[in-house]
Amino acid sequence: MTNCPCGSSRGYTDCCKPLHAGTITAQSPEQLMRSRYCAFVKGETAYIYLTHSPSTRDNISVDSIEQWNAQCHWCGLHIVTCTADESANRVEFIAWYKEDNQLKYHHELSQFKLEPLDSEFQTRLNQIAPEQTNLPAQVWYYYDASYPDKSIALPKRNDPCICHSGKKYKKCCALSN
Ligand SMILES: [Zn+2]
Ligand SMILES: [Zn+2]
Repeated sequence: MTNCPCGSSRGYTDCCKPLHAGTITAQSPEQLMRSRYCAFVKGETAYIYLTHSPSTRDNISVDSIEQWNAQCHWCGLHIVTCTADESANRVEFIAWYKEDNQLKYHHELSQFKLEPLDSEFQTRLNQIAPEQTNLPAQVWYYYDASYPDKSIALPKRNDPCICHSGKKYKKCCALSN
């Protein structure tokens, strides 16, 4: 069994798939973060769009997410820290990807908010998971992001691979694809 692309030790079916399929909703900012990263890998762009807070969603579209995502080859997710208390729910992460066969990273501090389930998300959940009759009143949304101003060291050849495969980087994602 291969592990879920989000970097957990479970398979996709037992990890992010039920979120993408609408049978459950994320229970924490970290779970939402992981499932959104995984949605990029799996091309679940509607999920990325709908888990974006309705208050900031009008700047994006499923089409724009798809266009951008088509250029990225995602390699792995690293969660740096999660801060969850009453005042703030933030996840700092590094998403590794390849562009023109060069390893790059996206380093972000995302803010998440628990907000009432909006009608667009609710309609989608009713469509894709009609068996889920007891929808939560509030769900976690990605709200906005800031970008920490510090550079991240690229993996060394003998480091464990950024994709969490358990192999060395040089024997895994360092190889061209
Ligand atoms: Zn996952
Ligand atoms: Zn790898």
